[in-house]
Amino acid sequence: MNKKTLRDVELAGKRVLMRVDFNIPVKGGAIQDDTRIRAALPSIQYILEKGGKLILMSHMGRPDEKGITADTTMKIAADRLAELIGRPVAFAADCAAADAEVAALKDGEVLVLENTRYHKEEQAKRKQKEGEDEAAFKAAKKALKEGQKKLAEKLATYGDIYVNDAFGTAHRAHASTAVVTEFMKAKGADCVAGFLMEKEIEYLGNAVENPVRPFVAILGGAKVSDKLAVVQNLLEKVDTLILGGGMAYTFFLAQGRTVGDSLSEPDQVEYARQMLEKAREKGVQFLLPVDNVAADAFSADANTQIVEGNFPEGWQGLDIGPKSVELFSKAIENAKTVVWNGPMGVFEMAPFAKGTMAIAEAVAKVKPAGGTSIIGGGDSVSAVKKSGLADQMSHISTGGGASLEFLEGKVLPGVAALTDK
Ligand code: AMP
Repeated sequence: MNKKTLRDVELAGKRVLMRVDFNIPVKGGAIQDDTRIRAALPSIQYILEKGGKLILMSHMGRPDEKGITADTTMKIAADRLAELIGRPVAFAADCAAADAEVAALKDGEVLVLENTRYHKEEQAKRKQKEGEDEAAFKAAKKALKEGQKKLAEKLATYGDIYVNDAFGTAHRAHASTAVVTEFMKAKGADCVAGFLMEKEIEYLGNAVENPVRPFVAILGGAKVSDKLAVVQNLLEKVDTLILGGGMAYTFFLAQGRTVGDSLSEPDQVEYARQMLEKAREKGVQFLLPVDNVAADAFSADANTQIVEGNFPEGWQGLDIGPKSVELFSKAIENAKTVVWNGPMGVFEMAPFAKGTMAIAEAVAKVKPAGGTSIIGGGDSVSAVKKSGLADQMSHISTGGGASLEFLEGKVLPGVAALTDK
């Protein structure tokens, strides 16, 4: 990686402003899953051990849409962090007014700032309202962007060093993830990657840019339209592209097959046809399901049958079938690098989870055989966790949207904003 990391900076006695991804699920004040806090512990502990004064900031939930609720206060994350590191964690109730709390920090102490998204300027998102004229909309948007700069400038006053360890939001150019670096750099301060960020970039970056071959990508999930750029970019890189899940049926249409009631996007059929053609031109093996578990309703109690060719009227594909599992598993078995994003079926319902679980098993064999297996965020992460095989993967990404944008070949603003080595 060509960006500076925590290892490249002197931390003792310095105020270290670190953006983390503490966007944890909370219900009724109870944390449902603290994986994201745990994922930042290596950076947190390193900074504290080196004698830094650590200031942590993050967003949680969607207060912009749902309003401020008891389940989005960062105090919940601060208290859990205190338990995890076994030392007190201070808290500042407004991320834009934390001077006193920052000034009170001693070397090796840690402070958590309240949810950055309690300030709308963090994201500075503004859609045109119904009936709002263009000029008023542009003026409001401009004011918000100016507000974003002001918020970023304020945050930058807290730190002598900026660290970004929030891979999950690295695809967003927000005040605390990217704009803040302008003000840090303006005062000559380093902006570096934390250990989690470094690990994510190394795994995903190496896989995509310098893969040990054969390189197999597995894509699944609901919609083709969400993953257009991913398919396109990966076709430039992989030896084999496996495509399952609801996405596959639009490709079936492109092959002239009928798909019954399966999820499909007729407006993406032409795109699917082009992608199949591109794979042929590039000599990329493009594997689609050869059989499907079809159901007569989108329900766990539906009647099911295996469909190999055209779908009968009234039936929909909700999982890949056993022959597809065999075909896909063989391709995965020979791989030295595997990247997986998206389930092979509706794995949330037991009768349609077999395909996804079988693929998880195949991917889990890659690492013990000397290869690299990367699970690229989102639903495939839940599926792998459900399979109980998570610890057998080389890397499970903490960022759904961010890892998808990485696989699209996009530059992530939160990464681009860091200081070059
Ligand atoms: P994504 O967020 O695009 O990765 O999509 C994940 C979702 O796709 C999961 O909730 C799955 O239930 C859903 N999915 C996977 N396969 C199918 C399918 N054949 N039909 C409908 N939904 C599917």
